[in-house]
Amino acid sequence: MEKVLAAVRVGPSRTELREYPMPEIKEDAALMKMEVAGICGTDVKLYAHPPNDKPTIMGHENIGVIAKAGREFTRRKGFKEGDLVFVEHYVMCGKCEWCHLGQYRHCENTNWRTNPDAIRYGYTSDEKPPHLWGGFAQYVYLPWNAVVHHVPQGVTPELAGLVTPMANGVEWSLFDGGVGYDSRVLIQGPGQQGLSQTVICKQAGASLIIVTGTSKDAARMKVAKELGADHVIDVEKEDPLARIMDITGGKGVDVALDCTAGAGTIPILLGIEALKRKGGVIVAQGEMAAFPNFPLEKFTVKFITMKSARGHSFKACELALAQLASKRFPLEKITTHRFGLKDVDLAIRSVGGKGVADVIHASLMPWE
Ligand SMILES: [Zn+2]
Ligand SMILES: [Zn+2]
Repeated sequence: MEKVLAAVRVGPSRTELREYPMPEIKEDAALMKMEVAGICGTDVKLYAHPPNDKPTIMGHENIGVIAKAGREFTRRKGFKEGDLVFVEHYVMCGKCEWCHLGQYRHCENTNWRTNPDAIRYGYTSDEKPPHLWGGFAQYVYLPWNAVVHHVPQGVTPELAGLVTPMANGVEWSLFDGGVGYDSRVLIQGPGQQGLSQTVICKQAGASLIIVTGTSKDAARMKVAKELGADHVIDVEKEDPLARIMDITGGKGVDVALDCTAGAGTIPILLGIEALKRKGGVIVAQGEMAAFPNFPLEKFTVKFITMKSARGHSFKACELALAQLASKRFPLEKITTHRFGLKDVDLAIRSVGGKGVADVIHASLMPWE
């Protein structure tokens, strides 16, 4: 019987290669042969601190080719064998209001925090048949309710591997932050996420893009400038608030986006200070359970709106794929590194800044 090789998280920061039986593909399902699984900051977090103790094939930013498609799958969804596709990590119910809006991220069927039976690629345990629920594997199983997008012609699988950070860029900066023509934007953190926001804000017509980082981010900051940032600030060498006020003539920015990891309350506090006098928007991550001494008075007096960075909608994915196809930006400067299946551990550590140096976006290629 044919087997499928996968890298499985078996505990905190521990990976094992395992084999699974090739699943049987029913009429309404499909099988995707993996090309590229993107690795992001969420992988770094979930690898070090798994949300449960069940073995899990990680990999939630998945690009591949439809290897087998049941007749019903093709009839209902329009995907056939040979198509290059991007599969969202959310596996929808298809019935709720969020699903009808293309906001699969909010569907309870994929909410692992509250629903023990939730299905989400990269999160769902390998105990659930047919086991292939993550992209760090040669094949991924696609049930009828997988959310699938065509990758446009001319976009390579490796470039398509950027679709998730780009889709988050569209969702967070444009849809949530309201960035558009003439917006002044502060982007904190120059990793793949911050750089993707930079590209999207530039494309949308932002007149000022400031990207902050630390001294170890020097290579990333250089790429930020090449992708359209007007100013970069090393927060370890300069006072970021003083620089932002200097650059903006004391006016501040319209929108502050937090794309940092492990920086605690600092990015929110800087965002609140750096926003314009009234009516700015801050897009926040939810890394901390609580926020001691939150400056609520300043927040309300400045009439700030806070939005939550939470994945992406169907539309954001489609716009991100179109952005990748446009070739308007030198995005090969972001797709810096490739790793094979046996190097998943090194790949995740590298994205977290602890393995190979200067990784911006890591592509996991399961057949290498
Ligand atoms: Zn991700
Ligand atoms: Zn739903």
